[in-house]
Amino acid sequence: MQLYNTLSAKERETLIEQAGKERLTISFYQYAHIGNPTIFRNHLFIHWNELDVLGRIYVAHEGINAQLSVPAENFKAFKAHLDSISFLNDVRLNIAIEQHNKSFLKLKVKVRKKILADGLNDATFDVTNKGVHVNAKRFNELIEDPNTLLVDMRNHYESEIGHFKNAITPDVDTFRDSLDIIEKDLESFKEAKNLVMYCTGGIRCEKASAYYKHKGFKHVYQLEGGIIEYARQAKDQNLENKFVGKNFVFDHRRGERISEDVVAQCHQCGKPCDTHVNCANEACHLLFIQCEACAAKMNDCCSNGCKEIHGLPYEEQKRLRKGKSVSNKIFKKGRSEVLKFKK
Ligand SMILES: [Zn+2]
Ligand SMILES: [Zn+2]
Repeated sequence: MQLYNTLSAKERETLIEQAGKERLTISFYQYAHIGNPTIFRNHLFIHWNELDVLGRIYVAHEGINAQLSVPAENFKAFKAHLDSISFLNDVRLNIAIEQHNKSFLKLKVKVRKKILADGLNDATFDVTNKGVHVNAKRFNELIEDPNTLLVDMRNHYESEIGHFKNAITPDVDTFRDSLDIIEKDLESFKEAKNLVMYCTGGIRCEKASAYYKHKGFKHVYQLEGGIIEYARQAKDQNLENKFVGKNFVFDHRRGERISEDVVAQCHQCGKPCDTHVNCANEACHLLFIQCEACAAKMNDCCSNGCKEIHGLPYEEQKRLRKGKSVSNKIFKKGRSEVLKFKK
């Protein structure tokens, strides 16, 4: 029985092209008690591999967090399989607005300690005492209320390319950091103001809202289904879209456009741009915003140093990387002194 991915990303890309079929990009999460995450993981892999599902799925004792793509023609079977699992029956699926057949190229189902790396000790507060979930319509009303503080629970590189108008967007690298900074900044409003929060698909707010209630905030609200679901509801119900720019997503699309506004700038020349790229130097891989002109000039790299290395023969590059396991900046998202126009 096959329990792991056997195709390389390149082979998969070719297969997707050859099949020429439409795929849907979907995400969902569910907190639930899973007795044996490994058995559950294998069960998912076997069924989803058969349905040609691709994606990144985390399974833990506390639940499941999934981002994936499925061929449109298999969607019904996929949904039926979800519904056959008690705690996933009728789970809300966030379906991407901008579809891209190559959003994922592998099926990776991983067992983790937690489904969201939130850095919190759940035993110290009641994680089930969450904020009030609101839909897009109610969210729009709430954020117009002068008594509301609107907080973006995502990291700096996410809110940089798109966010709700008038939202507080903490300049943080991790979810854990944002929790403390927001608490400190909003300390004096704990009782009087509405604390309204949002994130990409809702999962971060599930924890954040419970955390802030535990910290004494009295009126805590969270956008159900996050930006992804908001955009869908706003479109379907013809509501005013109060989100400007792009929604950063964690797959090959990198972001989906929600409004035509470009709120960020190229980190190299400062011109309006909201396209995230990874530096082409494999030893670097820094995530940053780069316009087409700079990409051409810099050979897809973040700096002259990387451009030089990227231009060397591959064997030479490998020799240079040897023994330098920490040189890769893949986790330093958008942070580097070489980026002159990073705000
Ligand atoms: Zn540029
Ligand atoms: Zn670089």
